[in-house]
Amino acid sequence: MSEDKTQDFLAALPELEEGKTYNFKCYPGIKCFNACCTDLDLVLTPYDILRLSKGLDMPSADLLSKCTTMHMDKATNFPEFRLRMTDSKAKSCPFMTKEGCRVYPNRPGACRMYPLGRATRPDGEGGVSEQFFIVTEDHCQGFKEADEWTGQSWKQDQGFEAYTASNDRYMHILARIKQAGRPVPEKMGHMATLAFYKLDEFQRFITHMRVFERVEVDEERQKKILSDPEETLVFAMDWLELMLFQETDKLQPKNVPNRSRCAE
Ligand code: SF4
Ligand code: SF4
Repeated sequence: MSEDKTQDFLAALPELEEGKTYNFKCYPGIKCFNACCTDLDLVLTPYDILRLSKGLDMPSADLLSKCTTMHMDKATNFPEFRLRMTDSKAKSCPFMTKEGCRVYPNRPGACRMYPLGRATRPDGEGGVSEQFFIVTEDHCQGFKEADEWTGQSWKQDQGFEAYTASNDRYMHILARIKQAGRPVPEKMGHMATLAFYKLDEFQRFITHMRVFERVEVDEERQKKILSDPEETLVFAMDWLELMLFQETDKLQPKNVPNRSRCAE
């Protein structure tokens, strides 16, 4: 589901207002165990790919080709990767096993948040405000359990907070493109594929293309960007924002001298 469709889908669901609670528990042994991990339409964010690639110790290009499908979104010219279900009759998730989720510590954000959906909008002060919605499904028995949650306590319990900064930043970039009313040039879409979804390859690109000669990044951060995918992704967002909009408060271009004039 694209981001716009996701927002429309969520808006049609009952909202979990701030401070309100719902009952839920999911555990191995519950009657419906694994019933929710089949036939899904699940868009993966750059941070989802980072965590899966790290957790599976798999190069991002292999993960993308084996476990996802991709199409370029016409409204932005940015790629959209979806989790590819297996060819089995049940169309199950490639990470589902009888014992549960094989990538549980690194499962995608949408899997963490279930049975809640989270919608965001700019708060006008550079951040986002969030709303939670309850996604009830007939087969899910978890709602009959006694454990009580608010949106915030569920988000914290499921380790979703690590995902929000990156996902919200990514949504902000998409929103800026949509606001401009036209998709980015194709080559920028390909750059977004590399920089956001293939962090190992993007690290090599940074070195090969001497990117740090063109932007202000201190040495300590340079080392982190080239060794820690979490830092690489933050830099990728800074870099793409600068490339796309020619300005960002996150990264300054270097004042590169005009070599031809110096040579005169
Ligand atoms: S259907 Fe609900 S309770 Fe059952 S395994 Fe999935 S999330 Fe858990
Ligand atoms: S990644 Fe894990 S939790 Fe998410 S659908 Fe697949 S098996 Fe289920």
